[in-house]
Amino acid sequence: MKERIYNFSAGPAVIPEEVLKEAQENLFSLPGVGMSVLEISHRSKTFDTIHAEANQNIRTLFDMSSDYEILYLQGGASLQFSMVPLNLMPPKNKADYILTGAWSKKAQKEAKRVGAVNVAASTEAENFKRIPKQSELKLDPDASYVHYTSNNTIFGTEWSSEPKVGNVPLVCDASSDILSKKLDINKYALIYAGAQKNMGPSGVTFVIIRKDMLERSSDNLHTMLNYKIHVENNSLYNTPSVFGIYIIQLVTKWLLKNGGLDAMYKTNIEKANYIYNTIDNSGGYYKGHADKDSRSLMNLTFRLPSEELEKKFIAEATAADFNGLKGHRSVGGLRASIYNAFPVKGCADLAEFMKEFQKKNG
Ligand code: PMP
Repeated sequence: MKERIYNFSAGPAVIPEEVLKEAQENLFSLPGVGMSVLEISHRSKTFDTIHAEANQNIRTLFDMSSDYEILYLQGGASLQFSMVPLNLMPPKNKADYILTGAWSKKAQKEAKRVGAVNVAASTEAENFKRIPKQSELKLDPDASYVHYTSNNTIFGTEWSSEPKVGNVPLVCDASSDILSKKLDINKYALIYAGAQKNMGPSGVTFVIIRKDMLERSSDNLHTMLNYKIHVENNSLYNTPSVFGIYIIQLVTKWLLKNGGLDAMYKTNIEKANYIYNTIDNSGGYYKGHADKDSRSLMNLTFRLPSEELEKKFIAEATAADFNGLKGHRSVGGLRASIYNAFPVKGCADLAEFMKEFQKKNG
């Protein structure tokens, strides 16, 4: 098969076609280099340029000040669950975690190995169908940091703005909504994200860290777990994911060319509305998992009247080239992941498919 189908996968996920084409074109030999990006040294001038351009693109997209460093690490967002507390929790050894889904719980689990974790809020009793309100947060003003997950990939909920945490450093797992909208980076001490949803391929983990946080990284930490060492070495202490950083450079270039993060956000709203409006206008046939004010623009979770109908929907959708719609087992039903690179037409087409399916099976 040469044609591309609609890829609703939660991650690794869809990458802009333009990026795939450019990468494909240059995979045999980078223009003027005579070698593929898969074959060049991470210490070469060529890679240096790619790396610097990726950084510059990200700084431009976010309007990021020089108070922040950018890192490209490995081990996925999951290793950040450990690196964050190992580096940032001492010497007080206590941190606040806001639990909004399976990934925040996993982050909390690793933090507990390092120090005391205060659960500032949790919506687990409601199967994580909503984001807690600011008034529900029981924050410790003396915590080393507050950790939250900006978008909950499995449950389909997303913070519409960051929690207000006063002077306590704010740490965010933005794996599934990074680059989907503009953030005021100045509100954060650290942001991390596995690249494989909105940035590029798996195998590279993106980190933005405010420089003053680096003072917390103890020399006793294992070298590869130490943010300070990675910053001092510009992410080149060891061999980074050269290909991953190359794709991030292309994806960020694509974003800039298409109007940056505000334009992307507008498109993301338009895309999600096709599907959320269909759910809301279905007379209860389709039911969203997330509360309306907590809905994600990236992962849209919904159910049908019965599991049989959900199975039928998925089978027929798959046959019609709508791939990857099966929801996570902890929520059931369906999940449409529509990251930045997912086309507007794909959302309109899925909405039509949903309406047709309801007509035939309602
Ligand atoms: N956090 C979130 C919000 C995620 O969606 C995921 C992966 N789906 C992870 C963390 C874990 O990422 P990784 O597989 O890169 O470790």
